Amino acid sequence: MRVPSVEEVISQDMASLRLCPAGLACKDCDKDLCVKIVSVADFPSEFGHFRILGFVNNKDGKDHIVVLKGEIGDGEGILTRVHSACLTGDSLGSRRCDCGPQLREALRVIEREGRGIVLYHQEEGRGIGLVNKLRAYALQDAGYDTIDANLALGFAADERDYRIPTEMLKKLGVKSVRLLTNNPEKVKDLEKHGIKVVERVPHELPVHEDDRGYLLTKRKRFGHWLELQEAAK
Ligand SMILES: [Zn+2]
Repeated sequence: MRVPSVEEVISQDMASLRLCPAGLACKDCDKDLCVKIVSVADFPSEFGHFRILGFVNNKDGKDHIVVLKGEIGDGEGILTRVHSACLTGDSLGSRRCDCGPQLREALRVIEREGRGIVLYHQEEGRGIGLVNKLRAYALQDAGYDTIDANLALGFAADERDYRIPTEMLKKLGVKSVRLLTNNPEKVKDLEKHGIKVVERVPHELPVHEDDRGYLLTKRKRFGHWLELQEAAK
């Protein structure tokens, strides 16, 4: 992992960094995808002491980031959470989904481990965007499940793919991960794009009344690995 110097950070032209100036010949490119680390900074948080890294890429115009604990070293077996953005869950305490508790637990677990990554993937609402997710919520209030709501709005059940996160991990020097997830597609997709998943680490939090239906749908229709144990009263 190459850390940009202060002079580089100051002189970065963000617009051109979001392009791939050298086209397909750029040394940073994996075929047509160009991913760059533009900032590495200290990141003390209530969950521990990390570093936080800003990335840009030439594909989606989104600001994906990494919270990094410890050193990547040989890049093997890094405890990793690829977390999809969920403003309502991550920041507003929503109980419609399990995203907020999953994010916080990932940061806690990685702090305890002393080495690991939370990659914050800006793919709100499984890739449909924040306001469209809220439109899907309105349909869910009327009886649709989380998949049928997306389909009714003209989206796929899940619009995400993990090519950019995979390239971000490679850019950090990661070769293989122990992935904190309950999502079989995430495991498959990271492997498809070239990051080996040596272990799938279950990442299930206690289920609540408000997210039970959502999680049942994820288990039944997405095949997520979920036990759905009740939260202690
Ligand atoms: Zn969520």
